Amino acid sequence: MDHDVVIVGAGLAGLACARTLHAAGVDAVVLEASDGVGGRVRSDVVDGFVLDRGFQILLTAYPELHRWVDLESLDLCRFDPGARIRVGGRFHTVGDPLRRPGDLFSTVVAPIGSPLDKLRVLRAVASVRKGSVPDLLRRPDGTTAERLRHLGFIDRAVERFLRPLFAGIQLDPDLEVSSRRFDVILRMLAVGDSAVPAAGMSALPEAIAAGLPEGTIRLSTPVRGAGAGEVRTDDGSLSATTVVVATDGPTAAGLTGAVADPGSRPVAALWFGADAPPLRGPSLVLDGDRSGPVRNLAVMSEVSSRYAPEGRASVVAAVPGPDALDPALPAATRRQLRGWFGAEVDGWDLLRVDVIPHGQPDQRPPLHPKQPVRVDDGLFVCGDHRDTASIQGALFSGRRTAAAILADRGR
Ligand SMILES: Cc1cc2nc3c(=O)[nH]c(=O)nc-3n(C[C@H](O)[C@H](O)[C@H](O)COP(=O)(O)OP(=O)(O)OC[C@H]3O[C@@H](n4cnc5c(N)ncnc54)[C@H](O)[C@@H]3O)c2cc1C
Repeated sequence: MDHDVVIVGAGLAGLACARTLHAAGVDAVVLEASDGVGGRVRSDVVDGFVLDRGFQILLTAYPELHRWVDLESLDLCRFDPGARIRVGGRFHTVGDPLRRPGDLFSTVVAPIGSPLDKLRVLRAVASVRKGSVPDLLRRPDGTTAERLRHLGFIDRAVERFLRPLFAGIQLDPDLEVSSRRFDVILRMLAVGDSAVPAAGMSALPEAIAAGLPEGTIRLSTPVRGAGAGEVRTDDGSLSATTVVVATDGPTAAGLTGAVADPGSRPVAALWFGADAPPLRGPSLVLDGDRSGPVRNLAVMSEVSSRYAPEGRASVVAAVPGPDALDPALPAATRRQLRGWFGAEVDGWDLLRVDVIPHGQPDQRPPLHPKQPVRVDDGLFVCGDHRDTASIQGALFSGRRTAAAILADRGR
């Protein structure tokens, strides 16, 4: 036997699985196809700009995060609560008056929804704050759009605020993802902060990987096939008592032939370098006008100054859904942002376009969180496709899978 446990993939799920096994004294190696850890949560430095692979936000309320990292060690930079919304050709601030009383006036007068809608938001938040997260995941399921209708929202509030917000978080411009996920995300937004590590999102997986013994992770080692007790790499086969496939769902389906492909929600991000920030402040910007493919935007150098070199600004524009795959996206994005910020956009450098065909698994209702992780004796799968399609879901899934392996061994 070459190894006790072989884990395929050093994304958040694979890292959490490896950490849990090592903490229990089980020897596990991680084989990762790419040249770094983090999977979908990675960052690169390009010409002095920090570019995450896609626009990602860390929700500090995710309970699983606190198991693996001291969040403050990531030097978190927080977004303002609420958002700035582009409506009627202007930006309006919609704050969280409970956390930033100064935003109360602008929130009340913003043309986002009726005063009744604003009360409905408060009521929805109060409802998801009750009980536990598992309780929310057991609520009757439907689409996010159905949930919003059930909560009484009329079109204006949905179109101007809720659709662009959840399009960005759930990669779901049609609001067809499970309402259970909507409830959980709404709770996370309400009880915690939205943030990024100062040095980029990759600081999160790097901090988790740092807790593993040296030599545990083998980079640039793609696995070509995985079965009970065996994986195939370009250098031949490796045997193991237990194999854990911790890749994204479609890859796990291909490697094992034993789990279903969960489907994919695509997303794109366009990163720009500018001479000056087009907006001041660490805000999430939403398009309430549906003025083009971009649904969310942030001036990242206003969130963390490390995202741009001295004297420059960095802007990320996110395009969730099928528009992400349109080859004409860069031109359409620049046209849209020119409408927002004027001719200065023509001078912005397009630093990178990230097109991510599998941003998240497609979790339409009925959502079954906690899907089986044991495929066969000696073969397990984990990842966001087994739990909720999120950083929280991936970390939880890795830990849950390790616990199942340990339970098999009477631990
Ligand atoms: C642009 C974008 C924005 C997002 N925004 C958010 C957000 O704001 N908040 C949130 O909670 N979630 C967000 N998500 C979702 C979140 O990033 C994912 O749910 C989570 O990172 C998935 O982790 P994972 O470990 O399950 O899978 P992955 O991150 O996909 O990790 C799988 C790993 O397996 C490796 N691998 C694949 N095939 C092989 C092979 N054959 N051999 C060896 N290794 C292999 C991959 O290289 C990768 O490292 C976003 C995702 C994207 C793409």
